[in-house]
Amino acid sequence: MFPFSAVRRAVLLVSKALSRHSFAAALVLACALVGLSLFARARRTAPSAAAPAGSAPAVTHTEGLLSVPAQAAETILVPPLNDYTVVGPFSPLAPVWWDDLGHYAVHTGLDLSAGASAPVFAPASGEVLRVYRDALMGWTAELSANLNGHALLIRLSGLAPSPLPRAGQRVRAGEALGQLGEAPAEACLGAHLHLETIQDGETIDPAALLP
Ligand SMILES: [Zn+2]
Repeated sequence: MFPFSAVRRAVLLVSKALSRHSFAAALVLACALVGLSLFARARRTAPSAAAPAGSAPAVTHTEGLLSVPAQAAETILVPPLNDYTVVGPFSPLAPVWWDDLGHYAVHTGLDLSAGASAPVFAPASGEVLRVYRDALMGWTAELSANLNGHALLIRLSGLAPSPLPRAGQRVRAGEALGQLGEAPAEACLGAHLHLETIQDGETIDPAALLP
């Protein structure tokens, strides 16, 4: 704030100058006052002038947020079946009853029902790690993929014995892998795909990755 005492002194000087009919002196003092006032105002506004520079990181932050939807889109898997129906929910902690097994058991996958021999597609691009027949889950193919820098293991069970992919084969998302067959332990559900997704070693709900 411009000191009031200084203004008063300046006004007195101007008055004296005017009383002496010295217009030139008054003009010089008036100019000095205006100059001091402008200087004081510039000092007061200096901190606020720095505000726009301080808000620059917020713009960067916004740009980061805008890039999130693009990353999220990459986490969506290609549906492994056409026109499927979810017949068995992912339930890794709460046991569910299985008619075929005759007891309760947790379910670490998602069961997708479709017609017998329906084509099965690769949910993501990657490499076929191994193909084998499991006594409970039937013919199974494991696919190694990468989603946003995270290793994703996709396990597809309940396949038909033929055709099947071979270990080491590279596949593209949406490429045909085989056909629906049967999963002995889940035969009560009819022809369906038992789908498991393991990200960085942790089993996650495939439904969260499907569109
Ligand atoms: Zn299942």
